[in-house]
Amino acid sequence: MKYISTRGAAPVLDFEQAMLTGLARDGGLYLPEAIPVMSHGDMAALEGLPYEEAAFRVMRPFIGDSFSDDEFQDIIARAYAGFGHAARAPLKQLAPGHFLLELFHGPTLAFKDFAMQLIGQLFEASLKRNGQRVCIVGATSGDTGSAAIEAFRGSKAVDVFILYPHGRVSEVQRRQMTTLTEPNVHALAMDGHFDDCQARLKDMFNDFAFRDAVGLAGVNSINWARVLAQVVYYFTSAVALGAPHRKVSFTVPTGNFGDIFAGYIARRMGLPIDRLVVATNQNDILHRCLTSGAYKTDNVIPSISPSMDIQVSSNFERALFEAYGRDGKAVAQLMEELKSGGFNVSQGALQALREVFDSGSCSEDDTRATIADTLARTNELLCPHSAVGVKVAKEQRAPGTPMITLATAHPAKFPDAVEAACGIRPPLPERMSDLYERAERITRINNDLGVIETLIKASRR
Ligand SMILES: *Cc1c(COP(=O)(O)O)cnc(C)c1O
Repeated sequence: MKYISTRGAAPVLDFEQAMLTGLARDGGLYLPEAIPVMSHGDMAALEGLPYEEAAFRVMRPFIGDSFSDDEFQDIIARAYAGFGHAARAPLKQLAPGHFLLELFHGPTLAFKDFAMQLIGQLFEASLKRNGQRVCIVGATSGDTGSAAIEAFRGSKAVDVFILYPHGRVSEVQRRQMTTLTEPNVHALAMDGHFDDCQARLKDMFNDFAFRDAVGLAGVNSINWARVLAQVVYYFTSAVALGAPHRKVSFTVPTGNFGDIFAGYIARRMGLPIDRLVVATNQNDILHRCLTSGAYKTDNVIPSISPSMDIQVSSNFERALFEAYGRDGKAVAQLMEELKSGGFNVSQGALQALREVFDSGSCSEDDTRATIADTLARTNELLCPHSAVGVKVAKEQRAPGTPMITLATAHPAKFPDAVEAACGIRPPLPERMSDLYERAERITRINNDLGVIETLIKASRR
């Protein structure tokens, strides 16, 4: 299995190389040269399997010969062993025809654990085999950072540095990054927004001297291995509701477009997904783009669903690449225009996107009202991101096709917002109930590339 860049001018890599590289050297994102299709029979056979076995069957065709079957099965088993629910991704019913896919039973209580725990094990196996070391630098709006730190803490082959926007992540998110004692993990509180953190991260990847000197590796949602890990739960949940014999739709609370793009891959693999609905908060660039064709960046307005406070949605580039018939030059041109504020999607590409994706946005008031209303009707406490999904899903549901809304974080990760919305303060699960008592280790840093690079060079082991 070969991987190509969305901008068409980077080396073609195998799975392992694409995973270790993250961002392609032409600035693009890696995608499989061809997307494997799963037969009707193979999909039907997923019904009732343990999550790990389904994960192996869904992901195996993408791995090529980077890992043997035994190695890969072992990696998957270790990745999901720390989850707090036997089903890994349990499905709950909210209303007739409307289901909630709970993706928050991993060690940091957000769906990011599905990908990050797997990537942690994949990196460990690969680096050990090759006798290599890497320096992982990530930018986070809160959940990626904690999931990455949790996945790589204590690794002998990896140093981890996470840039997060100072004062703009929840206390639980921050503590999940700052209370670990392992010397190979570092949380850096940067002045600015998430988009600033993401911009500095891209600068580091484009500084080839720095990139090669420290062995820079990326685990942000642009990393193909992360997208791949997320494809699995689209299959397990759809099959639980009757696929491949009947269609299902998904609504996905979206920021960087990684999670929903995994749904797109599942659909391309043959899973009968009717609609993929993009749900955004008030930072609604994706909803506006899918409505009007104009992708224009605006200022980020902080919201109660901070993991979706994003204006530059990095994985959308992969969807554009597909919508433009895999024309890397066209995508590179759009990304050039984005540097000066935005671009217009061509009529043909917009039509291609709309064949698969619908979209909606949810205001802060509606987010709070949905948390309260869902609690009253179903006794389920939603996190604000999941509430954005539920609100948009209700508006977009078509009769006859079950709708699955992805619940992307545990409500206890955002206790202030949840309490303000419905009066109930969600407690942390037992296994992490001492989080508020643990000591924190925080490094403040300016939004300055040189300063950040110097600190990373000096602190890695
Ligand atoms: C990261 C995150 C999202 C957005 O996911 P993308 O893959 O960036 O679209 C939504 N909700 C939560 C809780 C998250 O952590």
